[in-house]
Amino acid sequence: SELPSDPNTKNEVRQVPSACFSFVTPKIPSNPKLIHVSKELASLVGISNEDLASTDFLDVFSGIKVYENTQPFAMNYAGHQFGNWAGQLGDGRAINLFEVEHQNKFFTLQLKGAGKTPYSRRGDGLAVLRSSIREHLCSEAMYHLGVPTTRSLALLETGDQVLRDVLYDGHPDFEKGAIVCRVAPSFIRFGSFELFSAQNDIENLKKLADFTIKHYFPHLVTSSMSLRAESRSEKQEGKQKYLDFFQEVTTTTKNLILHWQRVGFVHGVMNTDNMSIHGITIDYGPYGWMDDFNPNWTPNTTDAEGKRYRFGNQPNIALWNLLQLANALYPLIEEVKPLETILEDYSNSFQSGFTKMMCTKIGLQNPKTSDESIVNQLLVTLRETETDMTIFYRLLATVSKNDTAEQALEKINFAFYISETVKDSVKESWLYWFTIYLERLQEETLSDEERSIQMNLVNPKYVLRNYMAQLAIEAADEGDYTLLEELFEMLKKPYDEKPEYQKWFAKRPDWARTKIGCSM
Ligand code: AMP
Ligand code: MG
Ligand code: MG
Repeated sequence: SELPSDPNTKNEVRQVPSACFSFVTPKIPSNPKLIHVSKELASLVGISNEDLASTDFLDVFSGIKVYENTQPFAMNYAGHQFGNWAGQLGDGRAINLFEVEHQNKFFTLQLKGAGKTPYSRRGDGLAVLRSSIREHLCSEAMYHLGVPTTRSLALLETGDQVLRDVLYDGHPDFEKGAIVCRVAPSFIRFGSFELFSAQNDIENLKKLADFTIKHYFPHLVTSSMSLRAESRSEKQEGKQKYLDFFQEVTTTTKNLILHWQRVGFVHGVMNTDNMSIHGITIDYGPYGWMDDFNPNWTPNTTDAEGKRYRFGNQPNIALWNLLQLANALYPLIEEVKPLETILEDYSNSFQSGFTKMMCTKIGLQNPKTSDESIVNQLLVTLRETETDMTIFYRLLATVSKNDTAEQALEKINFAFYISETVKDSVKESWLYWFTIYLERLQEETLSDEERSIQMNLVNPKYVLRNYMAQLAIEAADEGDYTLLEELFEMLKKPYDEKPEYQKWFAKRPDWARTKIGCSM
């Protein structure tokens, strides 16, 4: 009887049973400005430079205008947060605008920070400039590092003030509001399946699985159909399709974590709602890059006690999350054994994949089983004194086969955080490691130069260290985007030697040693 005056009634916060998504309308920002665009991504999606400069682009990607013949929607999903079942979560501040097909590729374009949705719970549906810069820079940096990820098309300021942390004296702390436009094949998560499974809504669970496979894993339909040719029943064919799907998500997730471990990225919030079924990095919140190598490090201050999402635990957590996905898919498969086999295989193939990956980092092109102990010894030694991970691997590429252990140690000295030479006991460990490493290098056929080139393809020279993002944020907050642009350009070629960027090949400065705040 009473019609609410707010045109965004569809965005009202609520429980939404039996639904994969809800139609919503983005919030209209008061004074939107385009801050930065990823031009390569724009052209990949089919947006020209001319389009980028148009008011249409600003209007559509700030939420002012809904693009013709499209209907924005927020997705429903559930999830396990920090190991506990959290029930319905959903896109509390993300709105899918539309899908684009360009040159036979599909992209979903999504605004993050464009206002409330039915899934906003107690949140405001908004994002601040700080966290949006971190997402925009890092997702593009990850892409150029070769790490599977959602991407970021554009970063915008909304012109609105957003309330975040309350300052110590009780006064409200306003920050600049912002929006990023994220791009991915889809934003379907492990938690999307958990939602229906937990509600025992098998009909919608099956619908979602069938839709997902048909649109994003079409090759699985063909391969399970060949089973019918082998005169299997239709039901078995169906089950096989879901198993194949689970197998593929397990494999791509495993490969994703191997990449994270390779580059020193710590996600920080590996809840099942933050796990993409495409095996891509999603949801850049309190993520961080490891400066000194420390498997116990997590950038997430709210996880400081349990350290569930610490660097060294990421492979285990991914497995735990996959187990939740297996549980969610179980009603469609109704057999425990094949799911268990896939999960068991994850552990084995992660271990062998990890050793292989580490061998490429230290320049062993023809890995042998005994290399595992060289790798493990290195991981122990790296922890004995604060050693910058990125700088260490990059300098290791300058070591030559004919060096003595002493000479090799001298070459990586810049990677140590303590200024004096490494203390005696640690020095002994390092000399021991270099002795076995140099001995092993003698068996390699590549020349020093060739090995160095190979190593520099997997060991980045530049990563988005937390302090670098922080500097870009502080400048941007004052309206100066030059540093943001410089970092963006540099991170497009993270493996290249570039004299103009040499100043960023540096250890974390002392002022950044304490945790930089990054509430979202
Ligand atoms: P995250 O920890 O970023 O994965 O977020 C967990 C859940 O909280 C997701 O459902 C988000 O959509 C939601 N959320 C996070 N921040 C906000 C916000 N400012 N407003 C509304 N919902 C939010
Ligand atoms: Mg999330
Ligand atoms: Mg988040």
